[in-house]
Amino acid sequence: MGYSERHCQLCGVGFNVGRIRKADEPESAAWHYYGTDFITDVDTAECEAEGCTNIPRTEHPDPVVSAEAEHIAGPNCKSTQGYSGWRITVEEMKDILRCLCIAAKPEDWQPEIGDKDYEIDTTYCFVAGVSKCPDEFEAGELTPTRHGLSDTMINNEAMEGLGSDEEWAIPVHEACFQMFERVSREKLGKVDIDGLWRLRDIEGDWPEGFMDPLKRIDVTIVSEQNYHCALGTEYLVSHPLRVDGLDQLINSCALAGEAPCKVVFDIGQATESHRDPFAALSAELCELLLGHLERRDVANMRLVSRSFRQLPQLYFRRLVESEMPWIWEVTTLKGRRVDWHNLWCRLSAADGGAGMDAQERHWLQQLPQDKNEILRQQLRKEGLTGMEMSKEWAKRSLNLKQQVDDDIKAANDAGKWPADTRKATEIRGLRNRRRIWEDLEEIVKRIAALPPVEEDEDAESRVW
Ligand SMILES: [Zn+2]
Ligand SMILES: [Zn+2]
Repeated sequence: MGYSERHCQLCGVGFNVGRIRKADEPESAAWHYYGTDFITDVDTAECEAEGCTNIPRTEHPDPVVSAEAEHIAGPNCKSTQGYSGWRITVEEMKDILRCLCIAAKPEDWQPEIGDKDYEIDTTYCFVAGVSKCPDEFEAGELTPTRHGLSDTMINNEAMEGLGSDEEWAIPVHEACFQMFERVSREKLGKVDIDGLWRLRDIEGDWPEGFMDPLKRIDVTIVSEQNYHCALGTEYLVSHPLRVDGLDQLINSCALAGEAPCKVVFDIGQATESHRDPFAALSAELCELLLGHLERRDVANMRLVSRSFRQLPQLYFRRLVESEMPWIWEVTTLKGRRVDWHNLWCRLSAADGGAGMDAQERHWLQQLPQDKNEILRQQLRKEGLTGMEMSKEWAKRSLNLKQQVDDDIKAANDAGKWPADTRKATEIRGLRNRRRIWEDLEEIVKRIAALPPVEEDEDAESRVW
C-alpha cells in the first residue's frame, strides 16, 4: 500500500495542502503539501496558463531545492498541486495544515492545569497537542505537550486489525473541533469526546471519516493520494471560524436610521376574477400560519394568494435563526433594527447559494440509480430474464461505476459542480462552516445513537 494521508475525522479534509503564491506575495506565502518549501516548475508541468511564471529560489539552504524553480501563479493558474494565491489568502488557509490530536487516555492519567471540564471525566481520550502537517500515520511533534504526550500516531479507522497494541489518536482540525464542542454541547448537553472515540472505533473509515462519500462530493474530488487542489474547491480549506467579510455583511443589514418596512415584496394588482379565501384572515393570523409552513409551501402560497404576496420581516428573521444555526454571529443583532429579508438573501448567497449543495448531492445520489435503471431496461430489451439476466447484469454492471465517475468528471469539466463559476457573493469560510456544521450534526446524531457502553462490553464478551 502506498502513501495515504490521514484526514480530519470530523470534516473529511486532509491536512497536507499546498499553496502557490502570487508574484506580489512573500516567499512564506508558498508551501508544498507538506507545509514547507514551495511548488516547483516540475510539479506544475501541467500548468501552461498565461501569466504563470517560474522563478529561481537561490537562497534555499538545500541545494537540490534551490536548483528548482518556484512556480508563481498567474490569475488563470491551472495547477492542482496547490491552491492559487489569486483564489484564497494565506490567512484563510494556513490553519488547515494543523492537526489537533484526540489521544488515548492512559490508565495513570491525572488532571493537570488547563484541562477542559469535559476531559476530566472521560474514559477513553483527552485533547492532546497540535502537530503541523502530519505525515501519514505520524502526527509528529505536538505543541503543547499535554499530559506528557509529545508525539503520537494518528488514524481515521478503527484500530482493530491494525496489529498495534497502541491506541492511535484521532486527527482533527482545531476549528472543526471547536465547532464539534459547540454542536455536541447544543445537541447532547456535553462535549462528548468519548462518544467521538467510540464512533471512530465502530464506524471509522479512511478516507471518509464517518460519512457517506456521496454526501461529501467536493471532499471526494480533492481526496486523491495527495490532496488534489481542484478549482472551485478552495472553500474546503477556508477557515470556518475566522470568516472575512461576515461581520461586515451582518452589520450592513442593521439599520441605524429609520426602521425597515414591516413587510417585503410588492403586493401586486388586485384582480376581480380571483377570489382569495385567505383575504378574510387578519394579518396576525396570516403571520401565525406562516410560522407553520415549510419554505416551499410559503413560496406556493405567495403564488396563489394575494394575502401572502407580501411577507413580514419577522418571517425572515425566523428563517435566519432557525435555518442557519451555524451563523451564531446574528445574535449580535439583538435589539437592533434589521432588514432581515436582506440579511437572509445575502447570507444564502454567501454560503454557496441556497440549496446549491443539496441540488448537487441529489444529482450525485440520483446518478447511480439512473445508470442502474438504464442497464436494467437495456437487458429487458434484449429479452434476457432469470439467470441469464443476472449473469449479464453481473458482467455489465462492473462498468457502471466508471460511467458514473465519467459523468461526474464531465460535469466538473463543464463547470457544473463544483462550479468554477460559484457566485461572486460566496464567502468561502462561511460555506465551509455550513458544510462542517451539517456533517457535525450527523456525527453527533450517530454518537447519540451509539449503544450504551455496557452493551458493547457484553457483546464483546459474547464474541470471545
Ligand atoms: Zn476538519
Ligand atoms: Zn500555474
